[in-house]
Amino acid sequence: LIEARDVELAFGETPALRGASLSAGPGEVLAVMGPSGSGKSTLLHCLAGILVPDAGEVYFDGQRIDNLGEARRSALRRDRFGFVFQFGQLVPELTAEENVALPLLLNGVRRSAALAEARPWFARLGLDGLGGRRSGELSGGQAQRVALARGLVARPRVLFADEPTGALDSLTGEQVMELMVGAAREQGTTVVLVTHEPRVAAYADREAVVRDGKAKILSMGYAPGGAAERVAS
Ligand code: ATP
Ligand code: MG
Repeated sequence: LIEARDVELAFGETPALRGASLSAGPGEVLAVMGPSGSGKSTLLHCLAGILVPDAGEVYFDGQRIDNLGEARRSALRRDRFGFVFQFGQLVPELTAEENVALPLLLNGVRRSAALAEARPWFARLGLDGLGGRRSGELSGGQAQRVALARGLVARPRVLFADEPTGALDSLTGEQVMELMVGAAREQGTTVVLVTHEPRVAAYADREAVVRDGKAKILSMGYAPGGAAERVAS
């Protein structure tokens, strides 16, 4: 569903990606691991159409997207992709609920309907009663869960998550992973997840490792339902 082919990208003189190839199928949860500075976030940003590679190709749904103009890539990000970034990035002046509703509002959903869609996520994430709180007044772990709800609320085809459990204790981290895997199973969302934690990667259908700007798939044998069974047990 989403694929990078021989992607190269340099920041000035610093090569970040040197021929990275990676793909994830519909509803698949792919964990991307690798040392700090190896190019994981950069690869995620190329897949998501945030960064444009210097060379190589990116495909979504069989169509090449890296050569589209910024307007079409930004429409794709808004309509088809969801994001949870390394550092939550909520709008601090808005309430938690309004933050979750944002992607829907950007898609033209009316305010009352968007807020009604946002509300059920709070119980699901163990955040009962926090919907009305300004997001600048949430703890790091609470904010990270709100960011996850925002990433999933518009039912994206692909969720890009960069260290989504980084700021969380292990129990909350498990809750977040179960929600992401649940989205993959129930909504058919493809999840591309960057993580340092093997325990988090264990929820994925497949694991890839990025080293020195190149990516390699480690565990083959993508089995739909594999991760879901792990969650159920
Ligand atoms: P981490 O695990 O620490 O998040 P990462 O694998 O996500 O690391 P990237 O952020 O993709 O690594 O960075 C890859 C390389 O590109 C590094 O050498 C980094 O210093 C460099 N880099 C990343 N972003 C920029 C930028 N905006 N400007 C210049 N160099 C950058
Ligand atoms: Mg990173």
